[in-house]
Amino acid sequence: MKDETNTAGLRMGTLAVHAGQQPEPVTGAIMTPVFQTSTYVQPELGRHLGYEYARTQNPTREALERNVAALEGGAYGIAFASGLAAHDTMIKMFSADDHIVCGEGVYGGTFRLFSKVIARMGLHFTFVDSSSLDEIRAAIRPNTKLVHVETPTNPMMGLTDIAAAAEIAHAAGAWLSVDNTFASPYNQQPLALGADLVLHSTTKYINGHSDMVGGMAVMNSPEIHEQYRFLQNAAGAVPGPWDCWLALRGTKTLHLRMQAHNANGLRIAQWLETHDKVERVYYPGLPSHPQHALAQRQMKGFTGMISIETGSLENATKLVNNTRIFALAESLGGVESLIGHPAMMTHASVPVDRRQAMGLSDGLVRLSCGVEDVEDLIADLDQALAKV
Ligand code: PLP
Repeated sequence: MKDETNTAGLRMGTLAVHAGQQPEPVTGAIMTPVFQTSTYVQPELGRHLGYEYARTQNPTREALERNVAALEGGAYGIAFASGLAAHDTMIKMFSADDHIVCGEGVYGGTFRLFSKVIARMGLHFTFVDSSSLDEIRAAIRPNTKLVHVETPTNPMMGLTDIAAAAEIAHAAGAWLSVDNTFASPYNQQPLALGADLVLHSTTKYINGHSDMVGGMAVMNSPEIHEQYRFLQNAAGAVPGPWDCWLALRGTKTLHLRMQAHNANGLRIAQWLETHDKVERVYYPGLPSHPQHALAQRQMKGFTGMISIETGSLENATKLVNNTRIFALAESLGGVESLIGHPAMMTHASVPVDRRQAMGLSDGLVRLSCGVEDVEDLIADLDQALAKV
């Protein structure tokens, strides 16, 4: 786009393709180049061209930051080397004796970071079922600085009412941060609902092709941006330019991919609900989901993420070992369909009693429905479930 700063009024598909990018000024290259450099030559002492050292500034990274910020309807984006690096750097805005209320359904790695690493440094965490606003409210203390939630949660697909959680946090003088990885900005925009910070593992839907690892934080407040940006450079968990370029390539089709993920996810969830080998389907787009009304209110689509209860570890093992198109692998949000066993894979770091309390049983299987032909995906699950 000729004037990449003028994105006012543009819609998601146009922003996905253009926001944050302009033709490269030397050659007119329409695609943002990979600025694969660690440093930049300065014309004379005390004068540089806006770029000094690549931990601090990189044009490919900056294009990605502007692009994802626009997709989230935010003013600023800050890119990281992974989703967890974005979380880790966010927490560095706080100090010993500060208190953080965190949804207990957050990704296992986030729980491990907060409870096993950051808590050692004197910050206090209370983990609550954030689908209950009363639990969030009851956990607030005078020193609470942040309420952090993930919605939908990984893998139980529980929702938090973002607007109501923001009100509770703000009434206590705290910020609300939302991990929007599962929904993607196409389906849910937490800043518009009152959140102060949105976090992503860009590894997932934002990149969408399972070929890089990255993270992103988006915000509107100049003060939060200033602190977070300082820490991006001071702590240094920045992504390399190639990974930024891959993510930027991915975001160009975010709106198209999400429409396909949403359609496949809904169709497969509806089909699974009728299958006699499936005891329960967790999918916010189904009327049987206990928070379906909230999902309809705060989400535009319900993603390709589905969890199902198969009843036992034995059943789950047979299912995940027998799919042919759904590949047994960690991660989610790529164009290809994946199947996983949260208790032994993504959430193995969560203590057993906590997993059980969340309903994360040994029979739980998580699906990341890709953008393949939905009839082939259903046939694949059908033949694998036949072996259960
Ligand atoms: N948030 C969610 C919801 C996730 O699912 C993950 C990873 O699976 C992360 C954060 C961590 O992201 P990364 O693996 O990019 O560090």
